[in-house]
Amino acid sequence: MLDLSLNGARVVTPGGVQVACVGVQDGVIHSITDTPPAARTSLDLSGKVLLPGVVDLHVHFSEPGRTHWEGWAFGSRAAAAGGVTTVVEMPLNAIPATTNVPALDLKLAAARAHSQVDFALWGGLMEDNRADLRPLHAAGVMGFKAFMLEIDDGSFRHAPDHILYTGMRELARLDALLAVHAENSALIHGLSRDLQAQGRRDPQAWLEAHPPVSELDAVRRALLFAQDTGCRLHVVHVSLPEAARDILAVRAQGQAVTYEVCAHHLTLTDADFVRLGAVAKCAPPLRDAARVEALWELVLAGEVDCITSDHSPCPTEDKATSNIWEAWGGINGIQLTLPLMLTEGVLRRGLKLEDLAQLLSTRPAQIAGLYPRKGAIQVGADADLVVADLNSPWTLRREDLLSQHPWSPFIGRTFGARVERVYLRGQPVWEGGHVMPEVRGQWLRPQGAAVPT
Ligand SMILES: [Zn+2]
Repeated sequence: MLDLSLNGARVVTPGGVQVACVGVQDGVIHSITDTPPAARTSLDLSGKVLLPGVVDLHVHFSEPGRTHWEGWAFGSRAAAAGGVTTVVEMPLNAIPATTNVPALDLKLAAARAHSQVDFALWGGLMEDNRADLRPLHAAGVMGFKAFMLEIDDGSFRHAPDHILYTGMRELARLDALLAVHAENSALIHGLSRDLQAQGRRDPQAWLEAHPPVSELDAVRRALLFAQDTGCRLHVVHVSLPEAARDILAVRAQGQAVTYEVCAHHLTLTDADFVRLGAVAKCAPPLRDAARVEALWELVLAGEVDCITSDHSPCPTEDKATSNIWEAWGGINGIQLTLPLMLTEGVLRRGLKLEDLAQLLSTRPAQIAGLYPRKGAIQVGADADLVVADLNSPWTLRREDLLSQHPWSPFIGRTFGARVERVYLRGQPVWEGGHVMPEVRGQWLRPQGAAVPT
């Protein structure tokens, strides 16, 4: 007698999509069969789609230190409602930033107390915590994040070239993964000063301060440094098809590099940003419609590793300004990644469900070293499961968002698919429009052989 059997959905497995019954025992997928197994709880899911839980490699929950911005409780509930069952949380926006072991311990305590989804943690590489990289690696971070762009965060600092380069040398010795935010700092800050001196404070000025070449240049430099040092690299939020092609070209020559595209870079354009203003401010910024469609071509061709949210919330008032330089840069998106990708990818552009599962679950779990425990519906994996209805249009209202500060550039948008029910290790965590308060996430340390190749 199994604990749970989910029967009759179109189940998205690594081997393809099949109508099947998924049996769960002790939080783990026990069987995938044609006929329902005996189980204490059985559910008929005819007409629904069963997907693996989303693994989001790029989220900022801002706790400890800025819990009033989001925090693990709000952030993880928004995650659960969006079908995200594993988050890999970034070192910055929390205070202190996760750049040494005591700071990691503080973040772990907050996450263990409040997270309702499973979590892994990135450490940070910055000027100058190079002596902390080895202890952080030993403590179980899944990789490191560095900013090539100088930022004013209060706790996290960027990694200028010599720190990036020597940090990569150390990470190569540890066989640790480095994620980079790749934008040319000197160019962007110089352009920003010029525009500010002209009195510009409009959204278009933000676009002019972050021209495509500022991202392309930094991606190329990061690739070159990583090649020279032998460091495994993951490029976050690639917004340019040109940058993606550069990454694919060096990978074809054997370099160990992966990249992610954010859902907002596939579903909003620079024209949306000019219309919406600060609520859609992010870095790299939203790009023109031709580049957005070219990114979709890469997605549909199977040439993008994974899709992330870069969930980066803030108090609503930090978006409520007409001065684009003052507005917080980030998109509040973790709850919408899967509905957006189902709607714009699967329903609108014919993205196959098994390819969607690769982008949102399998590949990110592999990059994080969490596969095969996470990332796919297969026997022996954690029963992190999402029941989706692909025939259920709905329009996003502010009150649908579970973030602490429910702003979003997507309010008013109509989605074609809905996340109905979500299981974390076999326990329902989202059902009937509610997050189950008793469910708690676990800390995940990298275990499997990490890609990339
Ligand atoms: Zn980010």
